[in-house]
Amino acid sequence: MKYIYGPVPSRRLGFSLGVDLVPYKTCPFDCIYCQLGKTTDKTIARRECFPKEDILRDVRKALLLDKKIDYITFSGSGEPTLNSGIGWLAREIKKITQIPIAVLTNSSFLWDKSLREDLLPADLVVPSLDAATEEVFKAMNRPHSSLNIDKIVEGIKEFRKEFKNELWLEIMLVKGINDSKDEIEKFKELISETHPEKVHLNTVVRPPAEEFAHPLSVKELEETRDFFGENCEVIARFDKSRLDKLSLSGDIECVIIELIKRRPVTLSDIHSSLGIHRNELIKYLEILERDKKIKKVDYEGVTYYECK
Ligand code: SF4
Repeated sequence: MKYIYGPVPSRRLGFSLGVDLVPYKTCPFDCIYCQLGKTTDKTIARRECFPKEDILRDVRKALLLDKKIDYITFSGSGEPTLNSGIGWLAREIKKITQIPIAVLTNSSFLWDKSLREDLLPADLVVPSLDAATEEVFKAMNRPHSSLNIDKIVEGIKEFRKEFKNELWLEIMLVKGINDSKDEIEKFKELISETHPEKVHLNTVVRPPAEEFAHPLSVKELEETRDFFGENCEVIARFDKSRLDKLSLSGDIECVIIELIKRRPVTLSDIHSSLGIHRNELIKYLEILERDKKIKKVDYEGVTYYECK
């Protein structure tokens, strides 16, 4: 199934069946912390990236496998709302299953009324907001030149007015980039204006696109959480021993280790060799690292995995 990965265990979404709506690193942003690497196609052209009927066929097939699925999640290799078929897909999936639909978005198109309407069938939308000011927006997200932070914030506010289901705002904090006292205070104002059911604080815990993207400490995140208020929680996972109880496939673990044994490889190398979706691979690599079967090595700004 070309457009589906998982279900992968997710702390927030339980078992999440990923639906990948866009080609690899197709996104209006080029975030310094992106775990998928640098953006190769920075675009704001919303289009039917893949035939929507083919994506729906893959979802149907995945549902027939009768695996535990808590959410069908539109996310993947770039910004899912770039796919102009997203509304049709959400509506069609609703006709064939009761499993809730989640959409993870970088908020870049929420200013667009037609996109906001497309997202209304979703049960949960998680828009991210990594900046409260234009300068920080440019430094963190390196957006397409047509986007600005006011447009992003207005989009989230408009969507909140129209969307009656769950909305969780995700804020990624990067040391020295968007964690100043001023920026955090402005974030708090925006949170009170957008009324999310939850605010999720994250930081850089996976290899980022840029070496200079460093995480905040647990203490710093907790202080920010306390400042933001009681609907805010820290979702960054520092303690790998607390990774979710996973039911990952032992066979897949074995083929990943066999590959890594031969030579140090990057995430993209493993993806190209084994055809496993990057987002699913990230979960396996975290577990293998936690179990001390592999280790990460940085070489000239690139993260490689090798056996211990
Ligand atoms: S983190 Fe998300 S929004 Fe940012 S560049 Fe990567 S895919 Fe795009």
